[in-house]
Amino acid sequence: MPYQLPQLAYAYDALEPFLDARTLEIHHGKHHKTYVERFNAAIAGKPGLEDRTAEDLLAAIDSVPDEVRSAVRNNGGGAVNHTLYWAVIGPKAGGEPVGAVADAIKADFGSFAGFKAKFSEAALTQFGSGWAWLVVNALGRLAIVKTANQDTPLSLGQKPILVIDVWEHAYYLNYQNRRADYIEAFYHVINWTAVNRFYSATK
Ligand code: MN
Repeated sequence: MPYQLPQLAYAYDALEPFLDARTLEIHHGKHHKTYVERFNAAIAGKPGLEDRTAEDLLAAIDSVPDEVRSAVRNNGGGAVNHTLYWAVIGPKAGGEPVGAVADAIKADFGSFAGFKAKFSEAALTQFGSGWAWLVVNALGRLAIVKTANQDTPLSLGQKPILVIDVWEHAYYLNYQNRRADYIEAFYHVINWTAVNRFYSATK
């Protein structure tokens, strides 16, 4: 079954003024859609690939044949990374973490402010296009990592539970070169209930 572009659980204008409707429309309806289509095209008709999930292929990227590995890494990564991005943001969100993930953030970063400083720094200092992530690492602890292009922590044996897209296409229409302003606005749309659900699912 081909990878499906997820329907958003909210309208394109539901995250304003933090994320604007035009950006969401292009980001989801054009950028994400294209990654999904190219990923599906790359594995179509290839036994051993098309019967595996995108997540499985990315977690074992070295097992993917040379001739399609870049396509899977870039377009499969683009498909999966954006699906998580849309799932961890929403309207009437933001504020402080909730549930078990709130306790883990306190344990592993000292406080929500300590987490926020590190997450923002990762998002700000990712040079060029990429992502900053909150992951559960191999030891079951929270960690903040950043990846370039469409690379995913799944390929490093980590389980992502929160992500911010810092490709310019995620913010340029509204924020131009002010990535820091986009990062600050992002905290107003983080759906901590969803993040906590992803965290709990790793346990
Ligand atoms: Mn993007």
